Amino acid sequence: MAWSYGLLFDNAEAFLSYMQNNLSTSLDGCHVHHTYRPEHKNFKGNNHKKLQDTMKKAHKARGFSTIAQHITIFPDGKIMTGRNVNLTPASAVGYNQNNAKHPFMFEMIGDFDKGNDTLEGKQLETAVKIARYFDKKGKKILFHRELLQNGKSPKSCPGTGVNKAWFLNLVREKTQLPVPEDDYVIKVANHKLYNRPLSYKVPMLKGNDVLALQERLQITQDHLFGPNTRDAVIQWQQTHDMRDTGRVYYGVWDALFQHISKKDNNRFYHRKLQYVTPLQRGVDVSRLQKRLNVPTTGYFGEVTDEAVRIWQTNHDENGRPVEDGKGLAITGVVDQQTWSALFPGE
Ligand SMILES: [Zn+2]
Repeated sequence: MAWSYGLLFDNAEAFLSYMQNNLSTSLDGCHVHHTYRPEHKNFKGNNHKKLQDTMKKAHKARGFSTIAQHITIFPDGKIMTGRNVNLTPASAVGYNQNNAKHPFMFEMIGDFDKGNDTLEGKQLETAVKIARYFDKKGKKILFHRELLQNGKSPKSCPGTGVNKAWFLNLVREKTQLPVPEDDYVIKVANHKLYNRPLSYKVPMLKGNDVLALQERLQITQDHLFGPNTRDAVIQWQQTHDMRDTGRVYYGVWDALFQHISKKDNNRFYHRKLQYVTPLQRGVDVSRLQKRLNVPTTGYFGEVTDEAVRIWQTNHDENGRPVEDGKGLAITGVVDQQTWSALFPGE
């Protein structure tokens, strides 16, 4: 199988296995770029090829033999192949080396200069995993802006919003990739659904716990633990080195929905909370609401905003009550300072 242009891969793992099967050169590092244009708003969810072709055309118009990069990483985390990985990329003048030995080059769709697009979610995950592949081999991960031209940084690429140390910490697993808020809420909710061992019996067990299990196993969702569900559990247990009992007791449930540590449950401070549209939602909002004695909806709306402002009026940065007006700045925003005042030590 030879390298082809325009192939779409769902994730880093799928692409890396394809690349390894088609590699006949020495890859000597990994160059990281953002496209700047196109940016996130140009991605419509299914126009990967169209955007890739447009870049290819633009690069050829600039005199390149073909598209500059080996791959493009889209906002949905998918990867499309570009220039043959066995050929030198058009990454930066003086740094492209030769066909026998050269850097791997990827472009991430987006304008990651501060205030524009954000590198996050699936796209971040794919970029981190690609970089990790090279980092583990001891190859250098270089941002375009580090490839100096006449002693100067050529541009901000991959964007002033992408901090190199932050990125490398993710690559080296010193910090974990954040779990998207919605996935996290669902995960927590499903984890809490466990209240009984599940197995196939007659009459069949029925309930939301069975439904969550069926969603997790991606099988027909009829709320009933029947032979199909049992077989899917057995299959899952076999591929996860567990005894294939077909029964879901707590240990299996925990493995299916992953252990949620106390730290995860609390989450500590990890983002600024405020009243914005669309409303922010999450377990951190619920926790804040409990702390402020307002209804626990999990959504940061007007009521929560008001409660935060009142609390800020008469509490200092250590969370101690003070005279009205002598407290924190009344912003309605729960930033690190207000969070720490509310939850000392976090
Ligand atoms: Zn660049």
